[in-house]
Amino acid sequence: MRRVLNKKINKFILFLVIFLMTIGIFNYKVLKVHGYPLFRKIQHELILYKTKDYKTKETEHFIIRYPMEDEKIIDLVAKASEKHYKEVCDRFNYHPEHKTTVIVYDNPEDLMNNASLKQGKPPMGVYFASTIQILSPRLWIPQGEEIEEIFMNEGPMVHEFTHLLVDDLTRGNYPLWFTEGVALYQEYLQTGYVWGETLSYEEKPYTVEELTDDFHKLDMMLAYKRSFEIVKEMVEREGFDEINQLLKDLGYGRSFEAIFAK
Ligand SMILES: [Zn+2]
Repeated sequence: MRRVLNKKINKFILFLVIFLMTIGIFNYKVLKVHGYPLFRKIQHELILYKTKDYKTKETEHFIIRYPMEDEKIIDLVAKASEKHYKEVCDRFNYHPEHKTTVIVYDNPEDLMNNASLKQGKPPMGVYFASTIQILSPRLWIPQGEEIEEIFMNEGPMVHEFTHLLVDDLTRGNYPLWFTEGVALYQEYLQTGYVWGETLSYEEKPYTVEELTDDFHKLDMMLAYKRSFEIVKEMVEREGFDEINQLLKDLGYGRSFEAIFAK
């Protein structure tokens, strides 16, 4: 009787181990997408703490933080943030629950630190942990130029805000090239800007596998160009709903490679 019971217990333990392993293997991404919002929230709170002494300006959908006296620039950032908000959100069929934090810096080093960028030239703007962090346009638009027109049409607001939507919708489950492609494509829709139009490939354009596995090792300009083209082709062939469906599936924790292969 005891031996039978032992056998039963052993069988049960074996079954349990196999069951848990199966869940672990197949649902690693599902676990990851559930933990991600909390992880991002912690990073977000840390950035808010680091910028707690900054001034703030609130608009309908954004809270802008800034350390400088330049109110004129902040008004421009506010205007550019709100300008495409509705159209972009409508396209993704998603409106963020909270106002989006935008941080404007007049010191590039602060941007690098708060956006966890380790090396390279400070970018015009960056999306990081639910925040859009940008350099004051005074730092990259030469004096005497039409600052308002350039910032509205070539500034980073649509691009970085799109990264935020992709991040929210997918819960962080996306390859880098894909969020870049989607962001560049939104810029194209809103401002008509075609990324890398004058660049040409010396060899064959990168494949999706190359973009997914080695994005940082590729020629940056050509990798961005290819990402933009792939998303554009996809939308022109299948419609934007296809992108929205893909984002939704990624948000459930499905693998990008598996969905994209379909
Ligand atoms: Zn980007």
